[in-house]
Amino acid sequence: MERELNFEGTSPLLYLIATPIGNLDEMTPRALSVLRETDYIAAEDTRNSGKLMAFFKIDKPFISCHEHNEEEASAKIISLLKSGKKVCYMSDAGYPTLSDPGQRLVANCLENGIKISVTSGPSAAIDALACSGLDSSHFYFEGFLPAKESERINELNELAKRKETLIFYESPHRITKTLISMAATLGDRKAVIARELTKAHEEFIRGTIVELSLLPEETLRGEMVIIVEGNKVAERGLTDNEIALALRDELEFGRKGKEAIAAVSKNMNVPKNRVYDIYLKSFKDQ
Ligand code: SAM
Repeated sequence: MERELNFEGTSPLLYLIATPIGNLDEMTPRALSVLRETDYIAAEDTRNSGKLMAFFKIDKPFISCHEHNEEEASAKIISLLKSGKKVCYMSDAGYPTLSDPGQRLVANCLENGIKISVTSGPSAAIDALACSGLDSSHFYFEGFLPAKESERINELNELAKRKETLIFYESPHRITKTLISMAATLGDRKAVIARELTKAHEEFIRGTIVELSLLPEETLRGEMVIIVEGNKVAERGLTDNEIALALRDELEFGRKGKEAIAAVSKNMNVPKNRVYDIYLKSFKDQ
């Protein structure tokens, strides 16, 4: 195991640059000073980063490095760094590598003895979590859920038992579908939509998953993060009403009685006979 301080020694170093997620004032003086010193800027989208750099009057050659060419672009960046050139990497917004390209570049650099540093800045996930009012002592970052409904439901079922606060990225055209999938799998937990963070129309909408799913979709424009309370059931015990609500979601989702009972029993970790009794009381005659 070799050790070398990041800003001493002779090994080359790649800078990751966190960029604003909406408000250009969040470009830090430190990021700008590193960018003014660099020889090349590698970027997820050279056109978007070109506009950002033009705003700050920084004119450097760009290297395109996105999810479809990250291997080849890494090789080019590594060879420039090894030849003594300075290179920075930025994605379109926030931190590279967080639901953005850069992770393979970082891994490839490390394999080649290149050190990694960062100029810190905003990330939508952390901004949303900090303002959510939900437990921020432990959290789980999921990023984007699968677009395909069956895969999304499976993934959410996997997450249902997690006690940590859950953080999701979502796009406006899928937000309602995602919230409906969440209601069916996670139950009606507390949740927050953090919309247009750091921008003029920033908004936090706090409620439960079902309440949020009923919001008119046309009022949910722009970029957004969903923060969902972790599974608190183990700590406080489930009420019959909560089990009935989960059963209703499963039935509305199209499952037959037996399947719905099995799904609720598994997702909520409740004995099948208890779920069955609640099913008989609440739904058998409908
Ligand atoms: N690398 C970024 C980061 O560190 O936050 C995330 C990039 S990911 C491709 C884009 C997603 O991040 C959006 O779909 C949205 O879920 C979230 N996001 C980015 N900017 C946002 C903002 N200003 N307000 C709310 N969510 C935002």
